[in-house]
Amino acid sequence: HHAKEHDLIFIRYNEGMKKRTQSRVELENDMRKALERDEFFLEFQPQFSLASGKMVGMEALVRWNHPKRGLLPPNEFIPLAEDSGLIVPLGEWVLKTACQHNRDWQLQGYEPVTVSVNLSMRQFRQYNLADKVDAILKEVGLAAKYLELEVTESMTFDIDTALNQLQSLKRLGVHISIDDFGTGYSSLNYLKNLPIDRLKIDRSFVKEVMLDGNDAAIVSTITTMAHHLKLKVTAEGVESEEQLEFLKGQNCHEGQGYLFSKPVPARVLESEFLNRLAG
Ligand code: C2E
Ligand code: MG
Ligand code: MG
Ligand code: MG
Repeated sequence: HHAKEHDLIFIRYNEGMKKRTQSRVELENDMRKALERDEFFLEFQPQFSLASGKMVGMEALVRWNHPKRGLLPPNEFIPLAEDSGLIVPLGEWVLKTACQHNRDWQLQGYEPVTVSVNLSMRQFRQYNLADKVDAILKEVGLAAKYLELEVTESMTFDIDTALNQLQSLKRLGVHISIDDFGTGYSSLNYLKNLPIDRLKIDRSFVKEVMLDGNDAAIVSTITTMAHHLKLKVTAEGVESEEQLEFLKGQNCHEGQGYLFSKPVPARVLESEFLNRLAG
């Protein structure tokens, strides 16, 4: 039966797959060098209080300026980085760079805001993640309360491990949010037990909130639940005034989306969105 298995593999492994595998391997090799060559950079997407309209934070989003392929969005390399393990050094670079920017802005006299950083599964599984975050905050000189770490529901699947990890992070004083909320394994049990501060409603629910009664019901229910659990709630992917009005009506705390701004380079965030401290 060994021969048969071989045949099957041989037939299925066609030219298209070969190309894809080659480009995958190439990209992976390129990524190893990209960190040293400074090809990664961050954009920041501002987040706003829906009640006051004030900018209250921003999410750091990584981009790769690939020498041959041009600008690559995270969906084209984060999964690869996750598979190869490169996500660990890349994730640390993102964390450090995001904290540095936030610290610099505070030193320049802008009103302090929170920077949110996405964590990957591999990073979240590191036993010494909290120590690393602590070291970065100290090195950069940013107070922990100005850093928020975004995890996804799937990372909390093993609830005991997640509880330990999140407690260690919370002890530092950073905030924790659940990203893309509603799209992963939804267990109400972890909402009850894990030390989280915020739910970010996935943009797939916000997208059709005015067209699809089910999406409206889901957004409304998540928001109400967040209020009862004393969690903050942010809507992702707010693109229209109608969506914004709906979300305000639900007393959703914060919003992020193209209606306010796309992710922008650091200097644009600085010139267009950060507020100068009075006096
Ligand atoms: P995410 O964390 O859910 O980030 C929000 C994504 O939604 C961003 O895409 C942002 O550009 C996009 N977005 C924001 N507002 C709108 C809107 O109104 N409409 C639409 N259509 N899209 C909107 P981006 O930058 O391409 O990032 C995609 C994902 O890649 C992120 O989703 C996150 O999961 C991952 N990612 C980005 N940066 C990092 C990173 O530094 N580390 C890790 N581990 N993952 C990252
Ligand atoms: Mg995110
Ligand atoms: Mg998200
Ligand atoms: Mg995501």
